[in-house]
Amino acid sequence: MAPLSEFELIRQFFSTLSAGRSDVVEGVGDDAALVDAGSGELLAACVDTLTEDVHFPADAPAEAVGHKALAVNLSDLAAMAARPTWALLALTLPQPDSAWLAGFSAGFRALAESSGVALIGGDTTRGPRRSVSVTLLGRVAADKVLRRRGARPGDRIFVSGTVGDAAAGLRLWQAGERHRAGAVGELLARLHYPTPRLALGAALGGLASAAIDVSDGLAADLGHILAASGVGARIEIERLPLSAALRQLFPLAEARQLALTGGDDYELCFTVPPSQEVRLRQAAARCGTAVTAIGVVEEAAGLRLVDGAGQALVLPQGGYQHFPAGPQP
Ligand SMILES: [Mg+2]
Repeated sequence: MAPLSEFELIRQFFSTLSAGRSDVVEGVGDDAALVDAGSGELLAACVDTLTEDVHFPADAPAEAVGHKALAVNLSDLAAMAARPTWALLALTLPQPDSAWLAGFSAGFRALAESSGVALIGGDTTRGPRRSVSVTLLGRVAADKVLRRRGARPGDRIFVSGTVGDAAAGLRLWQAGERHRAGAVGELLARLHYPTPRLALGAALGGLASAAIDVSDGLAADLGHILAASGVGARIEIERLPLSAALRQLFPLAEARQLALTGGDDYELCFTVPPSQEVRLRQAAARCGTAVTAIGVVEEAAGLRLVDGAGQALVLPQGGYQHFPAGPQP
């Protein structure tokens, strides 16, 4: 029997555990859950686990692990247009390591303070390898919340910042690159210290028709918007925003492949009705976050890639899957 994919596993065992509560506005299946907090406000909640040697290299700087454990959750709330407020931290360690913990807590603290998040509880346990699980809560007005569903044919597809950098950074790190300066340093920083797009996410509330954060790769994550919205899309591959560092160190075809399928960028991918495009560009400028139009939502299901001349291209293999389906080696 083929092993379950991450998504099939969730669907089969966990997607129907809401106990029929009427205050669960959005259960399992989006970037964060939404529960009714009363007075027109929703509480957004998400949890993400980073495991050593799976989500971060064992020799990753402790400060980077602390930063990233919170950043990936902030990114999920950004994709819902929610403002983060409270966090819980569950930490598994082989042994209490003061030097590692000092670095980890410094990285966590810096990002928590700059994003206005209070750590309000947690749990520490001993285990075979380091594992960090952060639960993050935040608030969003009911009429401003963003979801994956809501994209309509004709909507423009945007992505923030640049994509492919973190996957490129991981390749460099795995090849032993440790430079802090130059293009290598920039890509490694994108891997270890992702920037959650909180201000942009909040500004997209009531403006974008659908949104997701790019954690598993642009093609895969956009695919979630398309599936949830019951639509398809066309992406112009020449419009993908690539950083100068990525272009400097990787051939164009490989850079585009990384941009489409590499994970860990924590940019926002979202759709906007044409009537809102001017407002969107003004909002992005106010946030100081670059946004790039990369394609358009279409009625026919599926994701189509085209070059500048409109010629169809073959979609590379999809994004990162935690439990890839299919035959095991
Ligand atoms: Mg997400």
